[in-house]
Amino acid sequence: MRFSALKILREGLSGNRGWTPHWRDPAPKAEYDAVIIGGGGHGLSTAYYLAKNHGMTNIAVLEKGYLGGGNVGRNTTIVRANYFLPGNSEFYSHSLKLWEGLEEDLNYNVMHSQRGLINLFHSDGQRDAFARRGNAMINQGDDAVLLDREGVRRMLPYLDFEQGRFPIHGGLYHPRGGTARHDAVAWGYARGADSRGVDLIQNCEVTGIDIEGGRVTGVQTSRGPIRAKKVGIVVAGRSGQVAAMAGMRLPIESHVLQAFVTEGLKPVIDHVVSFGMGHFYISQSDKGGLVFGGDLDFYASYAQRGNLPMVEHVMEAGMTLMPMIGKAKVLRSWGGIMDMTPDGSPIIDRTGVEGLYLDAGWCYGGFKAVPASGWCMAHLMATDRPHEAAAGFRLDRFRDGYGLMDEEGTGAQHNLH
Ligand SMILES: Cc1cc2nc3c(=O)[nH]c(=O)nc-3n(C[C@H](O)[C@H](O)[C@H](O)COP(=O)(O)OP(=O)(O)OC[C@H]3O[C@@H](n4cnc5c(N)ncnc54)[C@H](O)[C@@H]3O)c2cc1C
Repeated sequence: MRFSALKILREGLSGNRGWTPHWRDPAPKAEYDAVIIGGGGHGLSTAYYLAKNHGMTNIAVLEKGYLGGGNVGRNTTIVRANYFLPGNSEFYSHSLKLWEGLEEDLNYNVMHSQRGLINLFHSDGQRDAFARRGNAMINQGDDAVLLDREGVRRMLPYLDFEQGRFPIHGGLYHPRGGTARHDAVAWGYARGADSRGVDLIQNCEVTGIDIEGGRVTGVQTSRGPIRAKKVGIVVAGRSGQVAAMAGMRLPIESHVLQAFVTEGLKPVIDHVVSFGMGHFYISQSDKGGLVFGGDLDFYASYAQRGNLPMVEHVMEAGMTLMPMIGKAKVLRSWGGIMDMTPDGSPIIDRTGVEGLYLDAGWCYGGFKAVPASGWCMAHLMATDRPHEAAAGFRLDRFRDGYGLMDEEGTGAQHNLH
């Protein structure tokens, strides 16, 4: 089923009875060429690009719940390419380019909106750091504009510029940054993978990984054993648990990250605004809700819900930045499980087990990475060689320290990221 203006018109006039399900509901086969564990954004995009770029279609995505029920459907939808360090910057640049062609590629409206992202700064030192970051972004081929205070005021007049604690000195503007509709990204990739023959199997929890003679041979699942020549672990917050099934101990801690949404309001916030000093960021969804969040809940957990101290902290930061937000009513809050690495950068790599691959460590920034992660993971699984845009995302950097990418300069400590 393809979407077109004509089809929408025809369906609108005939009671919308001609739409078919976006993907099949197949029973698991006994054997696949490759199995991907995890039906989040990264697992689905990996399957899609394995089929599309590498012609591998005898593959399955195994999802313990429903497609898109994990972080891909829980995030605050920010898409950007404003990373600083070599290794990261080319990867996220590659990802943003894929985003820019994604709707056409998937024939699916993922509501990618390049409304611009502004990172605020509050001191001369921070201005220098953001100027450097902006130069790195421009060198990478992306876009960045350093704004002074008046430049920010013209774009975001509703901020409190003179607040005593963090007066706003300016901001780094990334015009191609923005948001996308998170669920639609999962659904679009799912539909694209299914239409190329990939089996998307929901309610199928992987409970064991079979290894013989140092080589992966399949997985045990809640719907029976499945043999596979290649297995990709793409389970975000559950990476540590699933890797343990193959005897691996990952350099990853799982932490909760919360988000919040208000009642729907008329358009008031046109951009994505990031207030790093307050650990607060905000945008307005197309439905009108103000979507915002803050920092991690600083304890390891697998609970997809957060605690009150961080709620208080986020609300306080929001009030500091834009007192007008106090009038909006918060409707909902929720949490997701972040796979935090010590250097804040991800892993897309082979493991010590032949045929077993790992895509993990996305911390709180993996939504924007969905296209490039799938692209690079598919390349790795199909060719056994890392893609050049993800060559730095090696697992062994945590063993020997060589090649660590500490993007945020917070050191090798999970709870400082
Ligand atoms: C509140 C919040 C805000 C965020 N904001 C942003 C943002 O603005 N921008 C950004 O870039 N990133 C953001 N992120 C991060 C981003 O959402 C994640 O990094 C990314 O979604 C993780 O990859 P995924 O989509 O594949 O994960 P998931 O959607 O979590 O997919 C993993 C899947 O694996 C499945 N699974 C786990 N164990 C098993 C098993 N044993 N067997 C079978 N399946 C299994 C899970 O059920 C899950 O569906 C945010 C995250 C949260 C929680």
